[in-house]
Amino acid sequence: MLPNLQKMAAIQVHDKHFVPFISSAEIQDIVKDVALRIFEDFKDETPVFIGVLNGVVMFFSDLIRHYPGPCEIAFLQMSSYIGTQSTGIVYQKMELTKDIRDRHIIIVEDIVDTGNTVENLFKYFEQTQRPKSVKLATFLLKPEVYKKDFKLDYVGWEIPNKFVVGYGLDYDELGRNLPELYQLSEGKIND
Ligand code: 5GP
Repeated sequence: MLPNLQKMAAIQVHDKHFVPFISSAEIQDIVKDVALRIFEDFKDETPVFIGVLNGVVMFFSDLIRHYPGPCEIAFLQMSSYIGTQSTGIVYQKMELTKDIRDRHIIIVEDIVDTGNTVENLFKYFEQTQRPKSVKLATFLLKPEVYKKDFKLDYVGWEIPNKFVVGYGLDYDELGRNLPELYQLSEGKIND
């Protein structure tokens, strides 16, 4: 797949800038593919998609739009990240909006980096919520950084170990509303 980046321009934010990385058309192809792979496994069920806020907001809404079967949704509010430094497991909040006991759940994440967050999510759901089954769908994975041995069931796209922004992902809370994905770069545009 070749990037269609013609219409995307770099964006200056403070002392850094966002460099075009994945166009919104390509993102939709990736998300549709993930939705269809999940449907293949859950055709005869009504899974509950659980979005891990806030970064997942765009991926989540596109994913369920592309999902061609019955499903329910819920959200989990948590956070383990400040600025561009992954701090591991510092949950600011952990609040689930639906009872999912005995349900098939798909945890939906924006990006898996070290895997600390999803490891803790699996523990949280399996040990405290008693679902029937737990799968994980992530829009992005950084395989160079990911070192856990548990399986990531549905991965949208593998990316290099660079900080990305847009499509729900933020840089200091900015950039979440961009429909495309960008890589964060130091300095001014054209420096
Ligand atoms: P992990 O626990 O896998 O190391 O980190 C996962 C979380 O770190 C993600 O849910 C996301 O909030 C944040 N994160 C990791 N890499 C990036 C990135 O490249 N850009 C942004 N905006 N957040 C990231």
